[in-house]
Amino acid sequence: MEISEAPFHPVVKRLCAMKGMKSFYPPQEEAIRKGILDGKNVLMVTQTASGKTFLAELIAVNNVLSGRGKTVYLTPLKALAIEKYSDFIEYERIGIRTIATMGDYDSSEPMLERYDIIVATYEKMDSILRHRPSWLSRVSLVIIDEIHYLDDEKRGPVLESLIAKLKSMKSDAQILGLSATVGNPEEISSWLDAELVLSSWRPIPLKEGVYYRGKIKFSDGEEKKISEPFSSPVLDLINDVISDGGQAIVFVNSRRRAVSLAQTVAKRLKMNKSSEAEELSKLIIESSEVQSLNEVLSEMIKNRVSFHHAGLTVEQRRMIEEGFRKGAINVIVATPTLAAGVNLPARRVIIESSERYVAGEGNSPIKVLEYKQFAGRAGRPGYDEYGEAILIAGDPVEVREMFSQYINGKPESIYSKMGSSSAFRSHLLSYIATLEKLRLEDIRGFVKNTLYSRQMSQESAKKLLSDSLRFLKEKGFIEEEGKYYKATSYGKYVSDLYIDPLSAELVKEAFSKKKRATDFSIMHIIAATPDMPKLSLKKKEFAKIDAAFVELIPEILLGLEDRDVSYEDILSEVKTALFLYDWINEVPEQEICEKYDLGPGDVYSFIESAAWIAYAIYKLSDVLEQAKQYSKKLEALSYRVKYGIKEELYELVSIPEIGRVRARNLYSSGFRSIEDIRKASVNELMRVRGIGERLAYRIKEYALKHSD
Ligand code: ADP
Repeated sequence: MEISEAPFHPVVKRLCAMKGMKSFYPPQEEAIRKGILDGKNVLMVTQTASGKTFLAELIAVNNVLSGRGKTVYLTPLKALAIEKYSDFIEYERIGIRTIATMGDYDSSEPMLERYDIIVATYEKMDSILRHRPSWLSRVSLVIIDEIHYLDDEKRGPVLESLIAKLKSMKSDAQILGLSATVGNPEEISSWLDAELVLSSWRPIPLKEGVYYRGKIKFSDGEEKKISEPFSSPVLDLINDVISDGGQAIVFVNSRRRAVSLAQTVAKRLKMNKSSEAEELSKLIIESSEVQSLNEVLSEMIKNRVSFHHAGLTVEQRRMIEEGFRKGAINVIVATPTLAAGVNLPARRVIIESSERYVAGEGNSPIKVLEYKQFAGRAGRPGYDEYGEAILIAGDPVEVREMFSQYINGKPESIYSKMGSSSAFRSHLLSYIATLEKLRLEDIRGFVKNTLYSRQMSQESAKKLLSDSLRFLKEKGFIEEEGKYYKATSYGKYVSDLYIDPLSAELVKEAFSKKKRATDFSIMHIIAATPDMPKLSLKKKEFAKIDAAFVELIPEILLGLEDRDVSYEDILSEVKTALFLYDWINEVPEQEICEKYDLGPGDVYSFIESAAWIAYAIYKLSDVLEQAKQYSKKLEALSYRVKYGIKEELYELVSIPEIGRVRARNLYSSGFRSIEDIRKASVNELMRVRGIGERLAYRIKEYALKHSD
C-alpha cells in the first residue's frame, strides 16, 4: 500500500514523502487493514526493524494533528524514553510539543498539560495515574513499547496494573502494543482487546546459524567456511566480519567476560586506524569519576573495540553506542542489557554462550526470547544486505540442539508477575486510593482485568485479593465504610509516594523503637525496605559483613527479631547500608566501586532507588507520629543520599553542573555558599580543581542571578 493512499493527515503524508518513504512495509499494511487508523487497539508482534515503532510514531503524530487528543508513549527503560523523545523532537517544527518524563514519582505533573506527546517510563506513568491530573481525560492514544516486559519481575506488574486500571476506568484511549518477542500473542492480544498483527517479515534478511570447527551452518542449508588464524571461535568469527568491512556485536554471559574478551579482541585483532576512534578514546578518559574504568575503556576504543554493560554510566553507554553507529567502533562485547536497550544493529551478532549464570541456580540456558532479541540486532539497514546471528557450539550434538532450541524455537509465553504479594498489595492500594470509593465488586473487577487473573486459577486470584485486602485494612491503609472500601489518608499518602505499603510499615516500626536513630540506622531502614534493590553478598565477604553487623547492632532498628528475613538477607541489607553510608560521607566513587565491586552505572542506579526511598521516608515523617522527631534529620539525609554529600555541601550542589566532587573542591578552597561564589572573580574560581574557564563563568553567572 502506498503511504499517499492511507487515510493519514496530509502533513503526515508529506513528512513521509520528504523522508523518501513511499510504501508501507507488509506488517504496517496489515496493521492498517486491521484498523490501527480507525482507533482499534492493535498488538504488533513483528521482527526488529519491521517498522512497528515508525508506524506508531506516525499514528501518534496523526492523532495529534487530527485533534483527537494527547498521545502517551510508554517505554520500560529510561534510555529508551530518551531515544524515543529525540525521535519525536523532529516534529516540533510542525508544532507538535513532545516531552519526556521520568523520575520524581510524587507529582501529578500539571505542566504536562501543555504537551501533545508525552514519553514516559511505565513507572512514571503509573505514578502520574495515581495523582489523576485533569489532562488524563484527554489522552486518546497509549503506545506501549516492548510490551513483553509484562513478564519482567520488576516492571511487569507496573505495566500490567496500568493496563488493568485503564480498562477498569473504562478509558476509551486506543492502545498499541509493540514487541518483537511474545510467545503467546493471541492470549496477550485478547487480554488487550486488540487486533493482532503477527509477522516474521524483515526488511533485511536474517541468516541464523551455528558455528562449529571453522564452519557456520545456516538454517537455509548454506555453509560458510571461516578462516581460523586465532584458533578461537569467537575471535575468528569477529575477524571474518571485520575483514569484510562489517561490524560485530558479541553477547557474553557476564560483565567480567565482556571486559576480558573486549581486551583480548583489542589486543589481538588488527583494525585500520580511525581518527574518530582516537577522538572518542580521548573523550572517554574523563567520562566518569572512576579513572581506572575510563582508562581501560579508552585504551580499547583506540583499537575500535569496546565492552558494554550496566556497570557503565548512561553517558558512557551512549558514547559507545554513538561510536558504533558512526563506525568508529567495530566490535562491541556486551552483556544482554544491550539487547533490551536502544536500537543498535550490526552485520554479525555472535552469541558466545547460550548459558547464563544465575545466582543460586548455577548455569542455565538463556531463554529463546533472549536469543531472538540478540538475533534481532543483526543487519544494519542501509549498510548490510543481510544480517547474521551466530551461535557457537562445542560439539556436533550441540549444533543440532542449538538449531532446535533457538533457531527453530518459539519465544516463551509471557506470564503475569502480578502474583507477588508485594506487587499486588501496592497496586491494589493504588487502585483503591486512585478511585476513592469502591465496592468489593469494583475491586474484583479490577483484579479480573489483570493478566494474572486470566492466567491463574480463580482460587489463587481470590486468595491473593483477600490476603492483600486484609493486610491493607489491618495496617490502616484502607477502611470500610458501609459497602465501600476507601483509602485512609495514610493509605493515599503512601500510594502517592509510590512505595510498597510494607516499606511504610517498616518505617513506622523502626521509629517506634526506643533506640536513637543514627545516620547509619536510617541507611539501614532504606536498605531494609522491599523497594530497595540490595547489593549481592559474595561468599568471600560473608565474615567481614557479619563482623560489621555485630558491631552495628546497637544502631540497627529493624533486626532479625522484627521480621521474617534470613540471616543472609540481613547481611545484604547491612552491606547495602554500608555502601549508602560511605556514599553520604563522600567516599570517592572510585573507592566505592572497588570496595563493593560495582561500576559507576550501578552506583547511580542504586542511588536513584535509595534517593527515592529516602525522600519517601522524609515525607512519611509528616504523617507518622513515631518519625516526627526525626523530620529535620530525614530531610537532610534525603538530599545527602541524592547527591552523595555531607550536609554542608547542600547549597553548592544546587548549582547546575556542580556534583559532589566539585562541590567539595569549592568548599575546601573557601567557597562555601552561592554568595561566596558571587563575590569571587572568575580567575579565583578557575584555580579550584575541576573548574575550567567555561564552568567558572557559568557558576559565577548562576551565583549572580541566585544569591540572596
Ligand atoms: P521496529 O520498531 O519494528 O524495530 P522501526 O520502526 O524502528 O522498526 O523501523 C526500522 C527502520 O525502518 C527505521 O529506520 C524506520 O525509519 C524505517 N522504516 C519504517 N517503516 C518504513 C517504510 N514503510 N519505508 C521505509 N522505511 C521505513
